Amino acid sequence: MDTQRDKADALIIGFGKGGKTLAPFLASQGLKVTLVEKSPTMYGGTCINVGCIPTKALAHEAHFISLNEEHTLDEKKSKYAKAIKEKDALVSLLRTKNFNNVNEQPGVTVITGTASFLSPNEV
Ligand SMILES: Cc1cc2nc3c(=O)[nH]c(=O)nc-3n(C[C@H](O)[C@H](O)[C@H](O)COP(=O)(O)OP(=O)(O)OC[C@H]3O[C@@H](n4cnc5c(N)ncnc54)[C@H](O)[C@@H]3O)c2cc1C
Repeated sequence: MDTQRDKADALIIGFGKGGKTLAPFLASQGLKVTLVEKSPTMYGGTCINVGCIPTKALAHEAHFISLNEEHTLDEKKSKYAKAIKEKDALVSLLRTKNFNNVNEQPGVTVITGTASFLSPNEV
């Protein structure tokens, strides 16, 4: 793809906390920025997709489920499935918001693919 051969003033590998903060900042300074993320399920990075947010959402639900000693195993299974579904919906919402926030920033191009160095100045 031609866009993947474009020159950028700054190329950021990874759409995590670091990348999503740095890309709009550098673009606001007038730089042409390319942000590369290897997985479409990881826009926003570890924190929102598999780290901070989903683990806390599940821990919160688990706490409430464990408070009620009267749940049968089947009820617990069903609550677990519901908690996973709600966690997935939350993560999906945040991922989309994160992607749009960066992708709609003038001066930033998001590319989905695994970045690797071909030479010191070429990725
Ligand atoms: C279970 C868990 C719970 C956590 N809880 C908290 C918390 O409560 N509070 C807190 O502050 N921090 C928490 N963290 C830490 C937090 O997630 C990290 O500090 C943060 O994600 C680091 O951001 P980053 O941008 O450096 O990396 P990441 O968010 O990991 O982003 C890196 C991105 O780069 C992409 N990538 C990697 N290699 C390539 C490549 N070659 N080409 C293209 N893309 C690539 C990855 O897919 C990923 O999306 C938690 C982490 C975990 C695992």
